[in-house]
Amino acid sequence: MIATADLRELAGFTAVKAPVLSLYLDTDLSRNQKDQVKLTLRDLLERARGADAPTDDLQRIARYVDLEYDWQGKGLIIFSCLADGLWQPFPVPVRVRSEIYVGDKAYLIPFSNLLDQYAPYSVALVGREGARLFLIDMGGIVREEDTVGEPIKHHKQGGWSAPRFQRHTEKHADANLRAAAEATSRFCDAAGCSRLILAGTGENMARFREFLPSPLRQAVVGTMSLDANAPGSAVVERSREILSDLEEQRELGLVDRLITLHHANGPAAIGLADTLFVLQEGRVLTLLVEDGLAAPGIVCPDCDYLTVNEAERCLFCGTANARPVRNIVERAVHKAFQQGARVEVVRSGTALGTVGQIGALLRY
Ligand SMILES: [Zn+2]
Repeated sequence: MIATADLRELAGFTAVKAPVLSLYLDTDLSRNQKDQVKLTLRDLLERARGADAPTDDLQRIARYVDLEYDWQGKGLIIFSCLADGLWQPFPVPVRVRSEIYVGDKAYLIPFSNLLDQYAPYSVALVGREGARLFLIDMGGIVREEDTVGEPIKHHKQGGWSAPRFQRHTEKHADANLRAAAEATSRFCDAAGCSRLILAGTGENMARFREFLPSPLRQAVVGTMSLDANAPGSAVVERSREILSDLEEQRELGLVDRLITLHHANGPAAIGLADTLFVLQEGRVLTLLVEDGLAAPGIVCPDCDYLTVNEAERCLFCGTANARPVRNIVERAVHKAFQQGARVEVVRSGTALGTVGQIGALLRY
């Protein structure tokens, strides 16, 4: 499973002896024939060969897909630079867009987007007789647990009066929901996951929520009405929609904050030139980049200052022979990862587009 630690490690890698290949391959066999995927791979590898990718790496990747890959996941990501000792295949359970990149750094933006979108979370599907708990990571259920309380009997003719029966079943249901809440708390603690989605009927979710310990109540990021016996696939699908909406709102919120702060002369930078400057100063907390943004620039070989402004000498260290690069944005993203800053790839069409498609929220 891929993790943020992989991202930082990969961001720190610089190819010296030969360029590094970054492959993203859609291997979802429910949508493509295996032969079709292999054909796509062959095209991508050919393209990489045209961009001076080393034959060793190309062959290693082809061999991996032919002989070692188990085709269980829907996507495959590989970073390869054999000359410098890098070989990192990551089968992932979600689809990726097929692409290949050749450069002196691993191409990490899609990888980091995956981590953002598919970080683990839990779902508690709550009913009056207990709850079904799910841990979902990278779009798949990795753990499932049922808490079973006392069965709630249905009202039959005779015996107890209706109000008394009602009170009795309410008490049972409450005891069940309380037990389910405690089980949910243990489940989330064990999974170390900080986001919880509730599912069930409105009434049950409201009751259940009252029984949750307060930190977990705050970890509830969404609710969805769902039948207690809904299949796991429905749980995954519906919760993905909630998270995708949340992610979109979060991005919009960040863009909004960036622009507001910048207008108020607060700790924010907008536009490529300014963003590169604050990055060099190590002040970036969150880098916001519009999806697909690319621009040429120059890099100082001594202090790694990235800039779009041509100058005789580096603004930071005075070195004279700056080196042009095809995509300075990619370099900026790496630098942000290395500095431990967050990188948010924002979908196009937001207000970020009106302020140069890139910006940064700053530490100070
Ligand atoms: Zn410099």
